[in-house]
Amino acid sequence: MRENAPSRTIKKKDGVVYVTNTDSPLVLVNKKRELESTYVPKDLVKANVGFSFSGDNPKQQLRQVAATALEKLFAGAKQDGIELKAVSGYRSYASQRSIFNNYAKKNGEEEANTFSAHPGQSEHQTGLAMDVSSASVKYDLDKSFGETKEGKWLKEHAADYGFIIRYELGKEDETGYMYEPWHIRYVGVFIAQEIKKKGETFEAYMAQF
Ligand SMILES: [Zn+2]
Repeated sequence: MRENAPSRTIKKKDGVVYVTNTDSPLVLVNKKRELESTYVPKDLVKANVGFSFSGDNPKQQLRQVAATALEKLFAGAKQDGIELKAVSGYRSYASQRSIFNNYAKKNGEEEANTFSAHPGQSEHQTGLAMDVSSASVKYDLDKSFGETKEGKWLKEHAADYGFIIRYELGKEDETGYMYEPWHIRYVGVFIAQEIKKKGETFEAYMAQF
């Protein structure tokens, strides 16, 4: 774990802090710790789960370990009578840049920064994060998902499959992002359960090492 400590996994270049343990399932990416524009995970695969859209798209991909875990999570949900759909997983630096620029044009850069990520600062570039939603909110990525039975199931069970709800309510100061009940991040079962039990952010959990 120590080799993934936040203080040991950075390098500075031109005043920007970049993460160096990019291939670790514990890589910590946020507004203060970026991925380089050239970083692409080596083991992306299409997750074999239901998506909210049809047709092939790179955002159906996750890193192998996260894809396998997501498939188990979706199967577990189904057994409990809960139907989830995946909305958006892997996102390249370039596609994050175009998403952010579109929001910035519409809302101004400062406001866009509260709900969208600058390229390099999105966890979706790690291939370890997936946005999940349900028919009950028309597959929107909206706070109201947290109040649905699907959102509540996800909060209760994600850790059993190695995922955390990455951006929790009231933790905006620590994570840098608003509450996103739909965004799950793979960290492995043991750490996901620890984080859930302690009610900590991933930032706070990793800071102890
Ligand atoms: Zn997300």
